[in-house]
Amino acid sequence: MLTDDQLDRYARHIVLKEIGGAGQVRLSSADVAVIGAGGIGSPAILYLAAAGIGTIRVIDDDVVALSNLQRQVLFGSGDVGTAKAEAAMTAVTRLNPGVKVIPINARIDAANADLMLREADVVLDGSDNFATRLAVADAAYRLRMPLVSAAVGPFEGQLGVYRGWEAGRPCYRCLVGAPQDDPERNCAETGVLGALTGTIGSLAALEVIRTLVPFGEDMAGRLLIADLLSMRFRTLTLPKDPACPGCMAETCVP
Ligand SMILES: [Zn+2]
Repeated sequence: MLTDDQLDRYARHIVLKEIGGAGQVRLSSADVAVIGAGGIGSPAILYLAAAGIGTIRVIDDDVVALSNLQRQVLFGSGDVGTAKAEAAMTAVTRLNPGVKVIPINARIDAANADLMLREADVVLDGSDNFATRLAVADAAYRLRMPLVSAAVGPFEGQLGVYRGWEAGRPCYRCLVGAPQDDPERNCAETGVLGALTGTIGSLAALEVIRTLVPFGEDMAGRLLIADLLSMRFRTLTLPKDPACPGCMAETCVP
């Protein structure tokens, strides 16, 4: 049941036939894990909080730096030096005190990912390295948890939704294989347009909401590629890779 305040706050969602009161109740009881309160995580967390997601787990072991503020709109100048997970909780509480934030000021990895994610319904990965992405994707697969994965380059972005355990659907490793992080290439050196991270992060929040309250066309098995230099958005169909190490590992489990 929604309170009078909730009916008012979420009126623009509730009036949508695709969401309605039942969809809003589902959002309000949902538990979403967000990996990385950075350029992608910031707008995603804000929109998830505004949408009234019941619980948001913010997993990030970093502190806010001045150079983050060009794109990480969750934070302000006064947050510099504060743990991102804690600052995210403060920002969400200001926006929507009805949302419970669980700040996890730790790095997620292959050893702890199952434990950190297992209570969530959906995981949104906006992290900045492959080691984390693969740990999150493998855990999400094991837990049968939908994964919304978003990434950006200087002027390009990618967004996918993965439910690799479903017949014919690709997992994250079907797309990327087993990539290694290139220490020469990271955000600090290559730069990234702030508003681009806002665009992709907002779309990632939308896909989390679509996962919780299905509407329109399912994004699982498709990949959005945004090229902001030419201002072109394309959506590709991702096939399941028959030799995928992620999917094979799963099928080998008795
Ligand atoms: Zn796979």
